[in-house]
Amino acid sequence: MTSKDHPSRESDNWANPDLCPFCGVRLEDGGAGFMNHIDEAPVCNDRFEAWKEGIRGDMGGEWGG
Ligand SMILES: [Zn+2]
Repeated sequence: MTSKDHPSRESDNWANPDLCPFCGVRLEDGGAGFMNHIDEAPVCNDRFEAWKEGIRGDMGGEWGG
């Protein structure tokens, strides 16, 4: 199952913490700004949750700690 709703982990979007990787809006403060942003943008929050689920599925138990 492949989702095209979120960028791949290799996407350039993830290398730019100033922008939301889902909608491309400029964030105020990198990681913290992103958390605030998805709080206000349910669509991005949904995509972020789906992305995290994808990571978990892709990586299996390799992400310890
Ligand atoms: Zn967004």
